Amino acid sequence: MFQKILIANRGEIALRVLRACKELGIQTVVVHSTADSDAMHVRLADESVCIGPPPSRESYLNIHQIVAACEITGADAVHPGYGFLSENAKFADILAAHNITFIGPSGDHIRIMGDKIEAKRTAKRLGIPVVPGSDGAISDEKEAKRVAADIGYPVIIKASAGGGGRGMKVAHTEADLEVALQTAKSEAGAAFGDDAVYIEKYLERPRHIEVQVFGDGAGRGVHFGERDCSLQRRHQKVWEEANSPALNAEERSRIGNICAKAIADLGYSGAGTIEFLYENGEFYFIEMNTRLQVEHPVTEAITGIDLVHEQIRVASGGGLSVRQEDIKFTGHAIECRINAEDPRTFTPSPGTITHFHTPGGLGVRVDSGVYSGYKIPPYYDSLIGKLIVHGRNRVECMMRLRRALDEFVVDGIKTTLPLFRDLVGNPDIANGDYDIHWLEKYLAKGE
Ligand code: ADP
Repeated sequence: MFQKILIANRGEIALRVLRACKELGIQTVVVHSTADSDAMHVRLADESVCIGPPPSRESYLNIHQIVAACEITGADAVHPGYGFLSENAKFADILAAHNITFIGPSGDHIRIMGDKIEAKRTAKRLGIPVVPGSDGAISDEKEAKRVAADIGYPVIIKASAGGGGRGMKVAHTEADLEVALQTAKSEAGAAFGDDAVYIEKYLERPRHIEVQVFGDGAGRGVHFGERDCSLQRRHQKVWEEANSPALNAEERSRIGNICAKAIADLGYSGAGTIEFLYENGEFYFIEMNTRLQVEHPVTEAITGIDLVHEQIRVASGGGLSVRQEDIKFTGHAIECRINAEDPRTFTPSPGTITHFHTPGGLGVRVDSGVYSGYKIPPYYDSLIGKLIVHGRNRVECMMRLRRALDEFVVDGIKTTLPLFRDLVGNPDIANGDYDIHWLEKYLAKGE
């Protein structure tokens, strides 16, 4: 087991990882920018190292500073959290070269999954169902037209290097295709420095369903069921559930087993998420994330398994603590992402939190790094906390969520709490009857 883990992240996820380390009796080091000297993870860690000024490029993304912090403090492993360097293959390689363990998969696996064309090709080879589309990058308009005619309109053009919902364009007819192709290419080139794009069938009313997987790096793979993350705004998840209200036990185990086998065949190590669009009873792979996800707590709630403990065990060579048959799903869980944003316009609302009171009681978990008097710096993501609620079934979970949302107090800044208070009373949400476009339509109506 590791003696000392350096946490290369901030906010709620830094605290989340820190808690797992403390439970396992591992010493913790955190790194932080000058804007985060008062952050909770800095206060609670055994050691902290300031690695630079506020902009992420000069601090949380500064590989040299982080490696130096490992060497100064003698950390033998790094947990990258999510975002920042968590899916940076070069970072994983550099740590390996310094004999520091990256708590995550190999640089090569990160690289394969970071390139969407390569990821899709790999998924197909491993027997994972994919969205019909081009075999690889599209070279010109002629090829685009041929592929689109083959799979049928509407189609979506996506950047191979894409991420965060950027570089995607939909074409409903052949007349739209030329402009969509050109815009997607130039957006991809500008945003990612790589203008390779590919085409796939545009699914009109899918749900976003993702499978949590784990590999032990020695040929064993398991799945922890799925999460439904269909409630999205600008392709960003807002509310997540486990299990999905749309799947039955047979579908769950069918797709879960396909994913677990793929992970085993790949020789993958650590946590991963295989993301699908789901429509008319069919799954279509869209991408794989090679890290812990923001929404992992809903899986923890229904399985009772600490996924960060598992990540640390696997990375230290101790293997997984569970076999597939040990993983049972109990009840239902929902997570709301609470952002420091205006609940209608979604413009960021940094500033000082004058009062912060979190709900409690049975089945209620709040993961947050903020506190009363904390000043939210304007430089980073606006996520200030996650409310995760668990019940014996979805109805009980929703009742508890409504109650927990009522108890939650964040004064001094605007947050997205009012949005969740509206959603929890909506009949479509109560029925679990929504797809990936539901939230945008709901917000456009301004209800
Ligand atoms: P990113 O890495 O940029 O988040 P993804 O491939 O994960 O890109 O897609 C993000 C979101 O875009 C999906 O959750 C879905 O809402 C939408 N999307 C992607 N591919 C398709 C498709 N083929 N049909 C319909 N919607 C899609």
